[in-house]
Amino acid sequence: MIPDKNSVTPMMRQYLEIKEKFPDTLVLYRLGDFYELFFDDAKKVAKLLDLTLTRRGNTNGEPIPMAGVPFHSVENYIARLIRFGESVVICEQEGIPGKTMIRKISKIITPGTATDDGIAPDTKDNIIACIYKGKTYYGVSYLCLGSGVFKTTVCSKLSDVRLYLEKINPIELVFEEGFTNLDDFNFIKSKKSIPSWNFELETNYKLLCKQFETNSLFGFDIDDLEDGICAAGALLSYVKDTQNVSIKHITSISKDDSSSYVILDRTSQKNLELLSNLQGNIKGSLLSVINQASTVMGQRLVRELIVTPLRDNSKVNHRLDIVEQLINSDPESYAYLLDAIGDIQRVVARIGLSSSRPKDFVVLKDGLNQIRELKKALLSSNNTVLCEFANKIDEHEQIIELLEQSIMDNPATFLRDGNVIKTGYNKELDELRELMNGSSQILEKIEQREKEATGISTLKVSFNSVHGYYIEVSKTQSVNVPDYYIRRQTLKNNERYITPELKELEEKTLSAQEKALALEERIFNTIITELQKYIPTLVPLCTNVAMFDVLNGFARLSVARNYVRPTLTNTHELRIIDGRHAVIETLTDKPFVANSIDLTQKPMMVITGPNMGGKSTYMRQTALIVILARIGCFVPAKEAVIGNIDRIFTRIGASDDLSSGRSTFMVEMEEAASIVNNATSNSLVLMDEIGRGTSTTEGCALALSIAQYMCQQIASFTLFATHYPDVARLSDDYDNVSNICFKATEFNGDIVFLYHANEGALNYSYAIEVAKLAGLPNVIVNLARQYLQPDESDAEDKNKTMKKKCQEQIKATASETPVIDTKKQDKDNLVIEKLKELNLNEMTPIEALNYLYNLKKEI
Ligand code: ATP
Repeated sequence: MIPDKNSVTPMMRQYLEIKEKFPDTLVLYRLGDFYELFFDDAKKVAKLLDLTLTRRGNTNGEPIPMAGVPFHSVENYIARLIRFGESVVICEQEGIPGKTMIRKISKIITPGTATDDGIAPDTKDNIIACIYKGKTYYGVSYLCLGSGVFKTTVCSKLSDVRLYLEKINPIELVFEEGFTNLDDFNFIKSKKSIPSWNFELETNYKLLCKQFETNSLFGFDIDDLEDGICAAGALLSYVKDTQNVSIKHITSISKDDSSSYVILDRTSQKNLELLSNLQGNIKGSLLSVINQASTVMGQRLVRELIVTPLRDNSKVNHRLDIVEQLINSDPESYAYLLDAIGDIQRVVARIGLSSSRPKDFVVLKDGLNQIRELKKALLSSNNTVLCEFANKIDEHEQIIELLEQSIMDNPATFLRDGNVIKTGYNKELDELRELMNGSSQILEKIEQREKEATGISTLKVSFNSVHGYYIEVSKTQSVNVPDYYIRRQTLKNNERYITPELKELEEKTLSAQEKALALEERIFNTIITELQKYIPTLVPLCTNVAMFDVLNGFARLSVARNYVRPTLTNTHELRIIDGRHAVIETLTDKPFVANSIDLTQKPMMVITGPNMGGKSTYMRQTALIVILARIGCFVPAKEAVIGNIDRIFTRIGASDDLSSGRSTFMVEMEEAASIVNNATSNSLVLMDEIGRGTSTTEGCALALSIAQYMCQQIASFTLFATHYPDVARLSDDYDNVSNICFKATEFNGDIVFLYHANEGALNYSYAIEVAKLAGLPNVIVNLARQYLQPDESDAEDKNKTMKKKCQEQIKATASETPVIDTKKQDKDNLVIEKLKELNLNEMTPIEALNYLYNLKKEI
């Protein structure tokens, strides 16, 4: 229970006043060298971060729960809390230690607004989004504080809002209080409501104009997106409030038009293993293969590009042109140059937020120097496309010069420690530093003089932070010290003294140190202000370098894996010659069998063949090639012509969604419903074994009707893998359906998959052979084979006979199988038991011999 503010200490009262304003946010309250949390915050954090829960004082007779983290490693703890979707309020202490301290909120860090080094993830952008339900539309806006990207759009349906947010994948969502459809956005970890008055149109319009220093929003092409403006303005205010400073690097906003992307909903992103494999790891994902970027900025961008393939051919071709020229140039040497560029994008974001750290400036200076080298290299390539790109690079020489002169080559990590500003940059600072450093020489001089004056050769003049300057003399010599020595401290063997001269020196040095630190801070802040002027050119520079890095990575990948440039058209075509699965080909030791596909004339293809035969791989590789082509990457094929694709749908694999109360079959049917209701003739649809989650007859009936509807009504590019022969026979009745099958063959009793896509259909799935491969006991495999045997007898007779056979065979095997085989001793005992039970009178000699043979095998 939170106590009454008047019944606690002043320190606790300040805490409670702050906590009252942030009831749902963790308050990290600075006390000396720790940030402390109290009451329920302490309990929650102790659990989340596995910290020790302690107690401090009492309130209402109860101890106050407390948990703390050391201030020097607070970033690490905040980063972990952010990953749990938590937000934190940081309260710093101000004032002189020992006197009354005041705690002030220095910053609020929420999952979507973290940009600090060590808190925000390096290879992923944290995005914050905002939804506003207007009168006509839903306004949706998002902001990436790390890269400065700010976009807004409107959607007419809630399902479109969901699709949009699935593409962006924000870590935090803000919405107007009273918004009721939150269940649709359960994939977003952190959600916060803000009061309705934040969404007022006129105020938000003005707020955005003020931020971008414009008179209207016309130039950003969002002037007529009223609900989008409300969402964007509300989002900007929310983010500004958290940062407690103005956000200088958000210099523009743009309209995000969903129709310009190939839509990939969350299910498809997951099923196609774009950003992670089905287990959630990077390994085995498309990202793991195509992320060859050298900088972290590039790595973040690839992640974003994969889920936003473009429909505009000219934009994609522009990227492909650069990749092509890079392949013909020297991508490895560019990668080498890029490798040394640090995360200047985040550095720029922190400049915009006035939260830079000294080392940021070294990263910026070195990065800009390296970009200058990159520009030189590109210009010397004499390649028109690369030179055109190089000419867009602004070298920012003034920044390099400023940082070269002002910041030490290896500055302290924290400004509070000093040693950040270079000698020679500021005269006053140099003088103060001389005074600080000169004091050791002065001490030596005083020591020499005092030794001579007193005749005490062991006399020492020293300094420590507790007692300041002092003269130390051994106890035996202390009788010889002059009158003006004032005793300061008595130790076991020594006496320590101070003199008026030392006192004066102490004051001067200490104040020089303090003054120098304050001056360094002032200079540092002036440098931040100076750098903020360059933000409008620094932000696009970072984006350009990141994009160049991504494309250079694509070029290297294309060379290494023999990818080709795809041809993009605006027509209804999809043709791939000798395509390969971008990920599987990197994972298998065996050669990957390339396969072609042409859906131009016959957009629906029914795929049959054995289990494990390569059906899913074939379907997925087609989708991956489309995605790669549309993000501007070369593709793993001999040739690829990719037409106008508006969306990729997938119905692959079976998974229960028990948390939402949906069974495997329900999930399957919901996904199928979403496809038939939303796919257009320009969609690429992957349907893998639809109908398998229920009884064979009903499953087949459903599969057949869905397939029929797809080819008759929608005519999307559809790949339909099935084990139902009836579906494969659709091509007899529809001339826009073709059949492809995969085959397997038996060799020495084992099954061998050929992975080659052949024309035609196959109605044998080799399921039993695959089951054997999977390790099912022979008895089961044999029984299954017998079940499959054609039989003249009627079904009831067959069932009876098989049941009997089954019981006999399982029994026989059970007696063959040792019950316990973990320890030899156990086995031996078992054999003895079996021998005891044996009735030899009932056995033929040959049975006895067989039994003996089996027993011997067991031990
Ligand atoms: P099921 O019907 O059981 O789902 P499937 O026909 O969809 O099986 P896949 O999952 O596509 O089979 O393929 C199984 C495995 O075969 C893959 O994981 C891969 O290792 C290998 N494979 C598939 N296609 C090829 C290929 N073209 N070249 C080489 N190996 C392949």
